[in-house]
Amino acid sequence: AKVTRLGPSPTGFIHLGNLYGAFVDERLARQSGGIFYLRIEDTDDKRYVDGAVETIITSLDFFGIDFDEGAAIDGSNGDYGPYYQSQRGEIYQCYVKALVKKGQAYPCFLTEEEIAAIRQNQEQNKENPGIYGEYAPCRGLTLEEIEQNINAGKPYVIRLKSDGHQDPQKARTISIEDGIRGILSMPENYQDVVILKATGIPTYHFAHVVDDHLMRTTHVVRGEEWISSLPIHVELFEKLGFEMPIFCHTAQLMKLDNGNKRKLSKRKDPELSLDYYRQEGYMPQAVREYLLTVLNSNYEEWRQKNPDADAGEFPFQVEKMSNSGALFDLDKLNDVSKDVLVKIPADQLCAFLKQWAGEFKPEILPLLEGHEDYIEKILDLGRSGKKPRKDLVYGKQIFQFIRYFFDDYFEIEDAYPENASDDVKEILSRYLETYDHSDDQSQWFDKIRAIGEELNYAARPKDYKKNPDQYKGHVGDVSTVIRIAVMGRSQSPDVWEIQQILGEERTKARLKAQL
Ligand code: GLU
Repeated sequence: AKVTRLGPSPTGFIHLGNLYGAFVDERLARQSGGIFYLRIEDTDDKRYVDGAVETIITSLDFFGIDFDEGAAIDGSNGDYGPYYQSQRGEIYQCYVKALVKKGQAYPCFLTEEEIAAIRQNQEQNKENPGIYGEYAPCRGLTLEEIEQNINAGKPYVIRLKSDGHQDPQKARTISIEDGIRGILSMPENYQDVVILKATGIPTYHFAHVVDDHLMRTTHVVRGEEWISSLPIHVELFEKLGFEMPIFCHTAQLMKLDNGNKRKLSKRKDPELSLDYYRQEGYMPQAVREYLLTVLNSNYEEWRQKNPDADAGEFPFQVEKMSNSGALFDLDKLNDVSKDVLVKIPADQLCAFLKQWAGEFKPEILPLLEGHEDYIEKILDLGRSGKKPRKDLVYGKQIFQFIRYFFDDYFEIEDAYPENASDDVKEILSRYLETYDHSDDQSQWFDKIRAIGEELNYAARPKDYKKNPDQYKGHVGDVSTVIRIAVMGRSQSPDVWEIQQILGEERTKARLKAQL
């Protein structure tokens, strides 16, 4: 059984990468009957944003991420907590002390100015930056010197006494097997990195190693930006005498921008934030389904063969993840969303819309509430049959469709077809005269054809094309005039069906308004 974790920092920004990683964690745990837990990495109080933990927890919950244990809004659930790093200070202190006692870590009293001077020196000599070799003067302090400094009230950090080579050029190569990338060969760590800051707070390097061990993590899934510090982590696991988990470094999420692949950026791409999907009104199922296609390239093939299976049955394999940059594409997400939404019953869609509007578009709530039957009929327009309409994508977009059925939002948006622009009133008044709400679809269309014939419109577009001088237009132009009068737009589902939903009174009122 695998034990995985998500370790977000409460910076107030929860991004797609968090969700992407959470999927991997979740799949690994679920498929092996293991455990998936949430740990809040809140040691960096400079980055802490009020309310950020709630946002993390509610967003992940919205997207269906289900933790077995870990941080909750009102505390921690599970036997391996607390799951907030800010509440684990004493635990880190214990391990730091143990390392110092064994001579594997030491207090370092270098001031910021001294470190800046070292940096400058290294820059001039074109040497690697950092505290190592001759640049780690506090390594050699005697116990008395340390005591004196402490008694004098000098601030200090605790540094790892790295046994990497004193000279970075001569660092050995270490090999680590990554769950996604296979063997990673890299120079061992030679830096005396800080493990405990002057404030007594541990660094990420140290805290996560301690936590991943104590919380019995077997697989650490995290972004590839951590690969460069992996040698530090390997060394820490070894020094602390902990077994190493398997690291799985996921590729950056990329997007195509003018044909070039580039990283999604917080500044340029609103879709990097999970809030974006909630505000636009994407259904969580759709985002989940899409992310699975990004996660494993064979997912789509599997989905075609198993159209109705629960996504959880997909045999996800971490080894099959891309390691060169996972491509994220909003258009593709929208296509996937259409496929997902077409299968969702109208009452569920309606309930979702109400929930979404309640949170992000309260001004339209009165339109949805109390009109559920009406809305469900609208949503179901053209959705049954062999070729169901697939154009419901996300809340904001669905609202753009629904609103035409409500007089408060109705307006004529498209221009009448050019061929028929002189006949609009004539067509509509004839249509209104013969209008019978109880006509079935073929009776209804016969009447439109008759109007076309009377006013010299070809019965078929083909006929008009062959002899454009003989006709004013074709029957399609006639029905488009009616469609625009009734729906305000030239593209819509079947007009007869729309009229059935609008009802006789509303249909006639819309037609009359155009005369
Ligand atoms: N707190 C880290 C971050 O938000 C998590 C890295 C990890 O998963 O180990 O980037």
